[in-house]
Amino acid sequence: MKSLCIAALLPLIVANAAPADIVSEADLRGHIAVLASDAFEGRAPGTEGETKTIHYIADQFARVGLSQGSGTQGWFQPVKLIERTPRTAGYSFTRQGKPIAVDASNFVLRASAARTEIEKAPLIFLGYGNNSKGLDPAGAVAMILQEAPDGSDYRVRRNAVLRRGAKAVIGIVAADFDFDALERTMLAPVTVLAPGVDSGAEGMMTLEAASALAFEAGKDVSALIEDAAQPGYAGVALGIQADLKIGTDVRAFESHNVIGKVAGRDPKAGAIMLTAHWDHLGLCREEGAADRICNGAIDNASGVALLIETARHLAHGPKPRRSIYFMATTAEERGLLGALGFIADPLLPRADIRAVLNADTVAVAGKGATIAVIGKGTVLDPFIARAAAVVGRKVDPDGDADIMVQRQDGWAFAREKIPAVMIGGTFSDMALAQKYLQSTYHGPDDALTDTLDLGGAADDATLHVVLARMLANAADLGG
Ligand SMILES: [Zn+2]
Repeated sequence: MKSLCIAALLPLIVANAAPADIVSEADLRGHIAVLASDAFEGRAPGTEGETKTIHYIADQFARVGLSQGSGTQGWFQPVKLIERTPRTAGYSFTRQGKPIAVDASNFVLRASAARTEIEKAPLIFLGYGNNSKGLDPAGAVAMILQEAPDGSDYRVRRNAVLRRGAKAVIGIVAADFDFDALERTMLAPVTVLAPGVDSGAEGMMTLEAASALAFEAGKDVSALIEDAAQPGYAGVALGIQADLKIGTDVRAFESHNVIGKVAGRDPKAGAIMLTAHWDHLGLCREEGAADRICNGAIDNASGVALLIETARHLAHGPKPRRSIYFMATTAEERGLLGALGFIADPLLPRADIRAVLNADTVAVAGKGATIAVIGKGTVLDPFIARAAAVVGRKVDPDGDADIMVQRQDGWAFAREKIPAVMIGGTFSDMALAQKYLQSTYHGPDDALTDTLDLGGAADDATLHVVLARMLANAADLGG
C-alpha cells in the first residue's frame, strides 16, 4: 500500500509548476479589461486606439522589469503601412464605336495606385490565363475564368497575366458564385507593408456580364469556355475597346510593434521570442450601430495579457542564458504585417532567433485543457512535451490545429525556417474553437464579460513561463 501511495503522489509532485511560475486569472483579467475597453476603440493600427494600446503595453513591460527591446527606438519598432481603399470605378466598353451595356452590379474594379486610367485598351479573352505562349496580353484588358478545372489558384494565374504586361485582369466568376460577397471583399480596404508593390488593376465580372460582352463580339460565352478547356488554348481578341478609370484612397501611416527584453548572459546563445498581436478591428460597424467597437477581448487582448504576465515571471530570478524578447505586434489582422515588418527589419540576426512562441486567442478553453501545438514538427516539440509534463497537461497528438498555422503571427517566422509554434488549449478542441469563431469572433461581442473563463488562459500563461525558461536555458537548442 505504501509504495502505491507514493506512486499516487508522484504525478502530483511532477504535475505542478513552481508556485512562483503560476500566472493568475485576476492579473490577466486586469489587462484585458483595459485593452478591450471601449476607450481603446478596438485597437486599430494608426488610430488613437493604437497610441493608447502601445503606451499601455510599454508601460506594463517597464513595470514588470523588461528593458527596451527595439534598439535605439526604445520600446517601439516603427512599421510603415499603406492602406488602400477603393473609392471610384468608371468603365466603358465599345465595339466599333457602339457602347456595350454592362450593369454595375455585375462588375467590380479595383487598383493599387491612387489613380489608374486605362484608355482604349483591347479586350481579350485568355481562357484560364495559364498559357504563357498564348495571345500576348501586353497593353490589353484580359478576361480570364476564375475557377479552373485543375483547381489552380486564380491569383497565381492573374498575376502571371499581369506580369506579361496586361493593363488589367478581369476574372469571370461561375454562375452560382456569390458575387455580392465577392464585391464586398474586393472593395474592402487592403493594408500592405510600405512601400508596397503596384499590383496593377483588377476586376471581377459575372458570367452574365461576360456573356453580354461576348455576344456583342459575335461569340457565345459557353463556346468560349468550352474552347478554353482545350490544351494550349491561346485566347481570342474580342474586337472590343475597354476604358477603365479607377480611384483609390492611398493612406500611408506608421504603426508600431512594442518590444521588450530580458537580456541573456551569453550573447552567443541567441534569443527566444514571445509574441502576441495587440491590434484588432477598431470601429467595425457602420455609424449609428448600437455597438460599433470590435473590442477584441479574446482576439487578442488575451494574448497580450499572457505576454505581459509571462514577462513578469521571466524578468526576475537568475539571468537566462539566452535573451528573451517580448513583442506585441501590430496589424496581424491585416495579414501578419507587424510580424512580417519585424522579419524584414529584425533588430537581431534572424539566425539568432532560436524559438518563437506566439499567443493568439488564448481565452477560449477552460482549465487543464489539452495543449494543441500549431506548427508541430520543429526542434521545439520535445521541449513542449517536457513543459506540458511539468504543468500536468496533455499534448494533443493530432495535427488538426495546424489548419490555423498560416492565420497567426508565428507563420511569419515559420516560413523563414525559424522554429515557431502557437501552443495552448484553444485549438485542441476544434469544436469549442469553432464555436467561438462562429459566434463572437471578429464582432462587437468579443468583449470582456464577468463570465469570460480565463482559467485556460492562465494555464497557458503558466505553460509559457515554464517553456520559455526551458528554451532560454536549454543547451541543445543551437548556439
Ligand atoms: Zn483576429
